[in-house]
Amino acid sequence: MARAKELLAGTRRLVALTGAGISTDSGIPDFRGPKGVWTSNPGAERTATLAHYLADPEVRRQAWRNRLGSPAWTALPNADHRALVDLEHQGRLATLITQNIDELHQRAGSGPKRVVELHGTMRDCLCWACGDRRPMGAILDRVRAGEDDPSCELCGGILKSATISFGQSLDPYVLRRAHGAAASAEVFFVIGSTLGVQPAAGLVTVAVEAGAKLIILNAEATPYDPLADLVLRGAIGEILPPLADL
Ligand code: NAD
Repeated sequence: MARAKELLAGTRRLVALTGAGISTDSGIPDFRGPKGVWTSNPGAERTATLAHYLADPEVRRQAWRNRLGSPAWTALPNADHRALVDLEHQGRLATLITQNIDELHQRAGSGPKRVVELHGTMRDCLCWACGDRRPMGAILDRVRAGEDDPSCELCGGILKSATISFGQSLDPYVLRRAHGAAASAEVFFVIGSTLGVQPAAGLVTVAVEAGAKLIILNAEATPYDPLADLVLRGAIGEILPPLADL
């Protein structure tokens, strides 16, 4: 903790990369942790795979049921999200790259321009055919009213949340921003991710090769731990808030 505090206190170019683990204290389960959605139900991964989603109406119906029942709609930011807001207000956090789709960083008070949402947001919905984008709430109202696989009101195309599914490319502009931030980081701080998804996890290598000090905070080991200057193994809620109290 002392060494981590020293690294954070001494930088004005901290870049954080967060994963699902920072939102578990808000009641949103992660995917691959011990209580993760996919750990307990490996079949659920199909709904997050683009090819299955586009080809199979039953996968879409399941995905709409999952969206409707997501705990993320009522989740509130927790002390870990707020700790990153503190680091931003202290002038230390330059960019917050997140793999999360729940927008809890922005709701906690992180500057929207500093947040790079690598995997998009669950709070918008996109037509796969014409690109029409609108808030997810309006489409979920249609699901509640009985449509089990709602289609685009403009063109009849398939609707999907504005998130990145497996087999789908990341937005090149968003990826370039994340790359640029990682390459200019003095300290790169990974929080709550298994670092099992590319290209997000590869940002760690970009940062380290550009000379950043690497801190990884997660309950479990990650494949990038050997590259880290510091590995903090434990509960984020017990480690991050006191670390950010500089
Ligand atoms: P992951 O599920 O692969 O890994 C989360 C890691 O966090 C696990 O190693 C787990 O042990 C650890 N963890 C969970 N709670 C913790 C805590 N309180 N303290 C310490 N460690 C904790 O998550 P990932 O690497 O972000 O990849 C999952 C993908 O799924 C991402 O692409 C993301 O888009 C998506 N996802 C997002 C959300 C969300 O927006 N909240 C939730 C689930 C999945």
